[in-house]
Amino acid sequence: MFGLVSSVLAEKGRHVYTVEKTATVAEAVREMNEKGVGALLVMEGRRPAGIFTERDVLRRVVDADKDPALLRVAEVMTRHLVMIAPNFRVEEAMELMTARRFRHLPVVEEGEVVGMLSSGDLMRWVTMDQEEHIRQMSAYINGGS
Ligand code: AMP
Repeated sequence: MFGLVSSVLAEKGRHVYTVEKTATVAEAVREMNEKGVGALLVMEGRRPAGIFTERDVLRRVVDADKDPALLRVAEVMTRHLVMIAPNFRVEEAMELMTARRFRHLPVVEEGEVVGMLSSGDLMRWVTMDQEEHIRQMSAYINGGS
């Protein structure tokens, strides 16, 4: 109904914000704030090694009383990454986020990460799609009267 995630990426752009797994949590948080994102893909060289999000800062750093200047991202990231392909449907991606209780999904094509989608990106896309649908319905109804 809402198309493929590749269309969302084409509109949003394919840039993925990353951090090296050896970076400190303080460095990662600075990067998130500078770029205005809630998640970073954690890299080990050229390989994705995990994901680190603002939720991890709350649960695994602040609530665990750990020092962000001393703690490495590798110690508090989520290692088991769930990723999707560009030909996933938008609804499937939303269902996956709801079922797994996270708000970020890296998109992988031929072994390479080509984008990162957040629940906010998908919500915006669905809203835009529905607004367009309403606009077309109104034009149809008004045109016919
Ligand atoms: P979020 O709601 O995206 O801030 O993340 C909630 C929790 O799920 C955090 O512990 C994240 O590290 C983890 N997480 C987020 N996205 C993914 C993903 N695509 N695969 C695996 N874990 C994730």
